[in-house]
Amino acid sequence: MRTALPNWCALVVTETTATFEKGRTEHDLPDIVIDVHAHTIPQTFLAAVGRDHRFRVRVEQRGPSLWLVHDEGYGYPVTPDFYDASARLTALDRMGVDAAVLSPSPTLFYYSADPRFAAEVAHLVNDGQAAMVAGNPSRLHAMGVVPLQDTEPAIRELERCVDELGFAGVHIGCTVGGESVFSPAREAFFRRAAELGVTVFVHPAYVGPRPGLEQYYLTNLVGNPVETTIAIGNAIFSGLCERLPGLRLLFAHGGGFAPYQIGRFDHGFRVRPESRVALTHPPSRYAPRLFYDTITHNGQALAYLVATVGPEQVLLGSDAPFDMADPDPVKSVRQCPLDDRARRLILGGNAAALFGWSNPKSEVRHG
Ligand SMILES: [Zn+2]
Repeated sequence: MRTALPNWCALVVTETTATFEKGRTEHDLPDIVIDVHAHTIPQTFLAAVGRDHRFRVRVEQRGPSLWLVHDEGYGYPVTPDFYDASARLTALDRMGVDAAVLSPSPTLFYYSADPRFAAEVAHLVNDGQAAMVAGNPSRLHAMGVVPLQDTEPAIRELERCVDELGFAGVHIGCTVGGESVFSPAREAFFRRAAELGVTVFVHPAYVGPRPGLEQYYLTNLVGNPVETTIAIGNAIFSGLCERLPGLRLLFAHGGGFAPYQIGRFDHGFRVRPESRVALTHPPSRYAPRLFYDTITHNGQALAYLVATVGPEQVLLGSDAPFDMADPDPVKSVRQCPLDDRARRLILGGNAAALFGWSNPKSEVRHG
């Protein structure tokens, strides 16, 4: 269901999304900071992985730190802010963030697992998400995961996330079983997400070894933004954004390389017939209908993103608590050459509008 519109902002339900009316002044905007890209590893997951080899991950104690080590060979420390609400609130305070939309780590997607097991994992993870935000409903909000390798169970879990658990949206990967997440097999899922009016956060998962990415952590530094770029290319060129104008897609890491290459997308659309098979307008018409987080690690890149897609489409993100996170995302936005209205939209106004939170500041301060 679509959440009731906030009373403190003027929303315009366009053919694509609900966004702030472009003519509103900064005096109409809420003064709030919301992090929409922040991860968890719920306690329900940590408690279950040791009991079942199908998770293909183990919890290790390394000195004072807890680590998750995956069978593929990669691992990372699991600090308490991943799974403990009060530690997370302390971390938000440290970053100057009022509220966060918490999404499970992409390593919890389980798209390669047996579909029935993946559905169990999604259920378990989402119950953990609900428990983590339950005590702090004004500051902590949850997104869920869905077993996308099978569309019907994915739709059922999406509906449970929205209707039963009250989540702000769902968190999905860029690929499922080696194909684009936006392949026609999953159109029914995205159609249902559009009907429900929920935000779908699209995030690259573990890319794995690929030629040229073996060293220097390029699997993440290059591979992750490439995955997101491919996802945006498929979302636009497949015509999905055209067919489902109400679908709210939020892309990680500033949209990868897609905003920087939108001119190339348009040129291809003009000169190559295969780029027009499912699309009637140039790709640059659809890029400003998608949402993007601020995680570019570069003020000029962020300013370019905002100029390209519009300040109404960009939302504060940190990627905390991973080491690739922006350690001070609020400062990154404040130092970016933006006008005051754009800054306030990006820091939290857009997120509050997107998720339909009314009077967020007063709720946050008393949460
Ligand atoms: Zn992330």
